[in-house]
Amino acid sequence: MNFRIGQGYDVHQLAEGRAFWLGGILVPHTHGAVGHSDADVLIHVICDALLGAANLRNIGYHFSDKDPQWKGVDSKILLEKVLNLIRAKGYEVGNLDTTVVLQEPKLNPHIPAMKTCLATVMNLDEECISIKATTSEHLGFVGRGEGVAAFCVALIYKA
Ligand code: MG
Repeated sequence: MNFRIGQGYDVHQLAEGRAFWLGGILVPHTHGAVGHSDADVLIHVICDALLGAANLRNIGYHFSDKDPQWKGVDSKILLEKVLNLIRAKGYEVGNLDTTVVLQEPKLNPHIPAMKTCLATVMNLDEECISIKATTSEHLGFVGRGEGVAAFCVALIYKA
């Protein structure tokens, strides 16, 4: 099989005063995502989609939130490790399509910087990385500003 797909889904709680890492960059906001790592929900779903596509379990399996070595870790490092895992199995990334669900702030102004950052970390053309943002129309935990969710689908291929 030359092509495989994977999907990722993740949620992080938002808390006042936390740095808000998203797509590898710092997004200026009153709140940031809470987690064992830097809580970059967008990178986490990319990792999970890539791992899933290569049938390599999930991000928590490889980088346990019980393991102190991953406390506060920059998720870009986790992404590099995930790429090494899938490349060790002979796969390369085709493309990624992601969606971040967040009530505020508006992410559209930050998307070009996220794409540039992720393309650099992954050594991919920016054309291969789609990042979309939406709100939840004030509904649910995202709508109340309590959390951020993200989705990713990934295509990988035998290089
Ligand atoms: Mg996560």
